[in-house]
Amino acid sequence: QLSRSLPHRCQHCAPGRGQRLVLSRMFQPQNLREDQVLALEARPGNLTCKSQQLMLQGGLILPASPGCYHLLPYTVRAMEKLVRVIDQEMQAIGGQKIDMPSLSPAELWRATNRWQLMDKELLRLRDRHGKEYCLGPTHEEAVTALIASQKNLSYKQLPFLLYQVTRKFRDEPRPRFGLLRGREFYMKDMYTFDSSPEAARQTYSLVCDAYCRLFNRLGLQFIKAQADVGSIGGTMSHEFQLPVDVGEDRLVVCPSCSFSANKETLDSLQTNCPACQGPLTETKGIEVGHTFYLGTKYSSVFSAQFVNAHGELSLAEMGCYGLGVTRILAAAIEVLSTEGCIRWPRLLAPYQVCLIPPKKGSKEAAAAELVEHLHDHIVEGVPQLQGEILLDDRTHLTIGNRLKDANKLGYPFVIVAGKRALEDPAHFEVWCQDTGEAVFLTREGIMELL
Ligand code: ATP
Ligand code: MG
Ligand code: MG
Ligand code: MG
Repeated sequence: QLSRSLPHRCQHCAPGRGQRLVLSRMFQPQNLREDQVLALEARPGNLTCKSQQLMLQGGLILPASPGCYHLLPYTVRAMEKLVRVIDQEMQAIGGQKIDMPSLSPAELWRATNRWQLMDKELLRLRDRHGKEYCLGPTHEEAVTALIASQKNLSYKQLPFLLYQVTRKFRDEPRPRFGLLRGREFYMKDMYTFDSSPEAARQTYSLVCDAYCRLFNRLGLQFIKAQADVGSIGGTMSHEFQLPVDVGEDRLVVCPSCSFSANKETLDSLQTNCPACQGPLTETKGIEVGHTFYLGTKYSSVFSAQFVNAHGELSLAEMGCYGLGVTRILAAAIEVLSTEGCIRWPRLLAPYQVCLIPPKKGSKEAAAAELVEHLHDHIVEGVPQLQGEILLDDRTHLTIGNRLKDANKLGYPFVIVAGKRALEDPAHFEVWCQDTGEAVFLTREGIMELL
């Protein structure tokens, strides 16, 4: 019956056979004890938080130096998925992806005075000729100079929505909380160029709406708060914040209208909502995104211009829009996980399914082959799960132990071949993360579920 269901597979060279992903070969320094985790991060005053501990314990990241982490396979998979969702949302509003150098010449930063203003946050270096650079903490200067280098831009070509997903470097005074505050981290940064302030404001709300859609798709509850423009500058700004205790920002929220703001924007100790006068409540948040309407602050410095409808040169109206890519991963784990178990936004789970075959030498051991067939059957029936199914082949361990590990890593589905796998037809125990419960399903039942 099984061979009938796999009609075009040769026993010896079946595609997919050699490609089954097995846990035993995964590079994943795992199951560190709590004291080992703390030892890895032992620095005076270094606090840890839930996502940092879970990611270290699960073998998802390893510290390299203060604020710098090796991103290990599970994390890279989750990040690639996140970048895919970000690409979809940015490209749906006309975003074009570019990639600018991290090595950023000092003269760009001197032109805006940020070589001085950003002070110790800039990581500076010199090349062999003594020329000064910094490692890009953000790219307003670089992208504006890029646009300014194009001399014949017409208003008909605008708006440009240029974005990239790259590493950013900031010499944070207190790097901590794992990926939440690194000195080297991934950011998605978009820069927009419009032909008028009105058009730029429209673009601003277009990007904000895309951010809202993104966080909704990830299933993350967020607050869009009025924010300070800080060293980036401009005249209008919002932060996208995930409300959670470990967050380093303080927000005020009005429960009766939609007003919310970063507390640092209110200059007086305001207890009532500036919009509806109702009482404000306070919450802590993790800043996962930040949008700025910049006007001509940067385009005027670099002469980023275009030819307008009257044939005259006019300065581009700019906006810039950041998303903390690695920070979103850790923040999502922070808000969704329990103390001991990672929970991912469904779209970002590194693997969708974990298969657990029976223990070697156990009564159910004969069902091992069924699990391999189930794997191939799922891949054939649900092609989008290709590469998403992990086989926990550590069959020297009991099912219970492996189930515990699977629960810690947060696969949306865990499928176990236990006693009932020997029934005819075989029944598998299927753990669904959404419900937190197990159901017994036949192979066909599993196919329906997936
Ligand atoms: P924070 O207030 O947390 O220091 P920021 O306001 O300095 O952040 P922005 O310049 O607005 O950061 O950068 C855009 C986004 O990049 C932030 O909203 C955040 O999600 C992310 N980000 C900033 N700094 C870090 C960091 N040190 N580690 C990880 N992500 C960061
Ligand atoms: Mg900062
Ligand atoms: Mg901030
Ligand atoms: Mg910010």
